[in-house]
Amino acid sequence: MFKKNFLVRQIKAIGQNAALLGDTDDLESFLFETPRQALVAISANLRRVVDSRCFYCGGHVHEADVDHFVPFSLYPRDLIHNFVFAHTTCNRSKSDTLAALMHVENWRAYIDRHDDDLRKIALTVGRPADLTGSLAARVGGTATR
Ligand SMILES: [Zn+2]
Repeated sequence: MFKKNFLVRQIKAIGQNAALLGDTDDLESFLFETPRQALVAISANLRRVVDSRCFYCGGHVHEADVDHFVPFSLYPRDLIHNFVFAHTTCNRSKSDTLAALMHVENWRAYIDRHDDDLRKIALTVGRPADLTGSLAARVGGTATR
């Protein structure tokens, strides 16, 4: 989080950027969030990888959300390993809270099982794949791979 804020401040502090940026407050979003079009592509690819099954409840998903497993508010980087395919309702019920321990264990198994597929999706949609960074984002966790 500190690095992101530092980078945004540095970009805004460069005098030549002021004319380009104006009074915009969405520089962070522009720099760090995945465009809607990419999320749609990620969702379609994740649906195929997980056979339309919800990450949280395992049920068949018709209307899906692509969820940040570690909430974006806590770890604002859109790493492909941090996205999971889920029911809209399961995603909403989790909201911005940290997933239960059971889900953390399931997430680790999920990224181990689908690492190759997730990296291919990242290449397809032009988003970063950083397994080590994703694992390190777990609160209280450390990267072990
Ligand atoms: Zn579900």
